[in-house]
Amino acid sequence: MAGRNFLFVPGPTNVPDRVLRAMVVPQEDHRSPKFPELALACIQGLKRIFKTETGTPILFPSSGTGCWEAALTNTLNPGDTVLASTFGQFSFLWADMCRRLGFDTQVLDLEWGEGAVPERYHAALEADREHRIKAVLVCQNETATGVSSDVAAIRRVLDSLGHPALLFVDAVSALASIDFRMDEWKVDVCVSGSQKGLMLPAGLGVTCVSPKALDAARTAKSPRCYFDYNDMVKNNATGYFPYTPSIPMLYGLREAIAMLEEEGLEQVFHRHAYLAGGVRAAVFEGWKLRLCARDPRWYSDTVSAIMVPEGFDAAKVIARAYSRYNTSLGAGLSKVAGKVFRIGHLGDSNEVMMLAAVAAAEVAMLDCGIPVTPGSGTAAAGSYYRAHSPTREGA
Ligand SMILES: *Cc1c(COP(=O)(O)O)cnc(C)c1O
Repeated sequence: MAGRNFLFVPGPTNVPDRVLRAMVVPQEDHRSPKFPELALACIQGLKRIFKTETGTPILFPSSGTGCWEAALTNTLNPGDTVLASTFGQFSFLWADMCRRLGFDTQVLDLEWGEGAVPERYHAALEADREHRIKAVLVCQNETATGVSSDVAAIRRVLDSLGHPALLFVDAVSALASIDFRMDEWKVDVCVSGSQKGLMLPAGLGVTCVSPKALDAARTAKSPRCYFDYNDMVKNNATGYFPYTPSIPMLYGLREAIAMLEEEGLEQVFHRHAYLAGGVRAAVFEGWKLRLCARDPRWYSDTVSAIMVPEGFDAAKVIARAYSRYNTSLGAGLSKVAGKVFRIGHLGDSNEVMMLAAVAAAEVAMLDCGIPVTPGSGTAAAGSYYRAHSPTREGA
């Protein structure tokens, strides 16, 4: 098919040409005296992205899922109790991993389309007078349903009860797109990956660990080896890794961090909110459809999960967009399969890319018999962009 494939899944996201070029490098010796320059630039740069002075960024040659596992096995003892809430496929899978690794997993089961409810965490933690819960898990941005949760509010719950549990946050589809504050929110482990807001291919697990979590890692008895924080921290201190790192990924990461900082992290967040606003305008004002996210406070600025009307199959819309219009929309996962299609609006994107996503979704819906008004989505999104400022200064 001629022309580009338009990639609007919420990860992997589009890799900027600058990052692609930075990754085309010959292989080199990862034990050379020059290597630490690259490794330390990545680690130092990530501290600014995580907004941390005291936290330690760690890079695993995995995807985000590897960092979920590392968070649990490095800081907990076998059989420890953890508290998680599930309201979408990713929050569900992390809780499921806790169970499969043998942790006593308390789950706050919520409707898909809702976000983490601080009151539910409060009730569970208040009832835990003996402080058996050792870790509290929150998914900051549930990519399956397009729902963002308030991590700071969960921190306040822990503080108000004086509960000592570690706070783990899945920021895989939030970091470098939606505000994340490691130190201010006293997050103990933040879990992320390379292929979403960081605009890289998949292949790096990007995580950040607080001093409290590193302390726990010194004595925690859950078995782990490849994903051991201690080995990483020891080697990273001098700019090396305990095993062979993916050097092109590190060059790409250094370039991606430079791009994020040239734009300015706060402007990056503004751009994501602005681009998301146009997509939501298409959904609500143009197509008169609904999002899976049930309440405006939960609307995600990195992904929209759009509900097709009752009686239609969202999977057909996605298939049609791909085969006829060379456009990749995100699938509905698990409980929302066939009910939603997703438009990712994170990473390296701009207004015209969003208009393309909206246009492709619109024609694919029309082809599937969904009665949206032709042109209504692009008109609403275009009007939104014309009426709002792409920069913080102009806002
Ligand atoms: C993508 C994603 C994951 C899984 O990350 P992988 O890199 O695919 O292992 C986990 N959580 C959330 C919220 C995600 O969006």
